[in-house]
Amino acid sequence: MAETRKLVVRNAVIVTCDREETVIDDGAMVVEGRDITWVGATADLPDDMAAGADREIDATGRILMPGLINMHAHCGDSLFRGLVEDLPLEEWLQTVWKAEAAILGNPDDCRLGTALGFAELLLGGVTTVMDMFWHADQSFAAAQEIGIRLASGAIFFDPPGMDGFGPEQRRPQAEALFDRYGEDDELFVGTMPHGTYTVAPKGIHEALDLARERGGFFCTHAAETRAEQETIRKQYATSVIGHLSAMGALSPRTVLAHCVHVDCDEMELLARTGTHVVHNPMSNLKLASGIAPVPEMLMRGVSLCLGTDGPISGNDMDMWLAMRLAATLHKGVREDATAMPVGEVLQMATINGARALAAESWLGSITPGKRADFILLDITGPHAAPIFDPINHVVFAAGRGDVRDVFVSGRQVVRDRQLLTMDVDKLVAGVRALQPRIRAALEDGA
Ligand SMILES: [Zn+2]
Repeated sequence: MAETRKLVVRNAVIVTCDREETVIDDGAMVVEGRDITWVGATADLPDDMAAGADREIDATGRILMPGLINMHAHCGDSLFRGLVEDLPLEEWLQTVWKAEAAILGNPDDCRLGTALGFAELLLGGVTTVMDMFWHADQSFAAAQEIGIRLASGAIFFDPPGMDGFGPEQRRPQAEALFDRYGEDDELFVGTMPHGTYTVAPKGIHEALDLARERGGFFCTHAAETRAEQETIRKQYATSVIGHLSAMGALSPRTVLAHCVHVDCDEMELLARTGTHVVHNPMSNLKLASGIAPVPEMLMRGVSLCLGTDGPISGNDMDMWLAMRLAATLHKGVREDATAMPVGEVLQMATINGARALAAESWLGSITPGKRADFILLDITGPHAAPIFDPINHVVFAAGRGDVRDVFVSGRQVVRDRQLLTMDVDKLVAGVRALQPRIRAALEDGA
């Protein structure tokens, strides 16, 4: 199939997700190569902009919006979906790690789980994901094959890792990923220490230094549970955020997953340093970690984005659910219907993710000059009539089943709810075939 060089979309409801929250009721968009070159009302589309298109889409009955940006995931954990339930994070992690250790020494199995997760994300309208997992080289290869935009890097972890490697191999692994993928302007490479309770300051500093040297991001889990806070307080006589701050880890290139247990001073510090925080409401609820003070962080100007976390703390990676939870949870617990503005939630799921990747100038909204990462949502169904406000519809009524078409850098990867880049049935069958071995691994080790 010949590559589309110029695509013209007409008659869409365009939810741009730009900073002005612009919505165009009957909109058109022109894509040339991998970039958006024109956006506006269909009636205003100049003839010379539309001329020479080798593909036209009549998007009547569709919302056109940027692909969602899931800023925290562990896609490879798709293999362990539903294996461990109803335990608090610490016990849950010990059990999960046992199963991971038995299976993930094999990079091919790891890649299979990661590819399954990427397929789920793309079919659900996610075009960019920040993923933390073992064998990140396999994740990058799978992402290139399937066509999702990936942000990832080597995990740093002091105990023997589930991939069979020890702490001394982490920096070389991380360097190799920068060497191999760091120059690719469609991907993001960084360093990913698992957390301050699993990585001593030496490893955190190594990861920070390398990210700085190579211009990558630094991402870690932070302040997810009370138990984690207690561990760090005992060890370092400060909080998790205080400890990260003392190591010089808070900056606009840092992405912290969770930040459930943070006080006012820490929120101010996160805001002042430009550190990005990923809110993962589903994971925090299911693992009983607590409820992050998201409205308080927003009020103080903390840069917030949204994630699903892995499919064992989910048990899927549904960004529409994440949006709806983020938009409702904080209202409920505060008994305040104004606690989370809906437009803010949508920005957290799109352009704020781009900002956290230092890519807001070329990603995250339907804006000329940015990459054509976009989705078309079906709005012909009964749950989509009437639509008085498309942003409200996207956050409060739309879901994964509405995602019809997905494009990444102008390349179509999902057409009419079918993934074009990988055989999903084969992926699912491969994962099902592994299931007996995964169950046995857990039972043998028990
Ligand atoms: Zn996580």
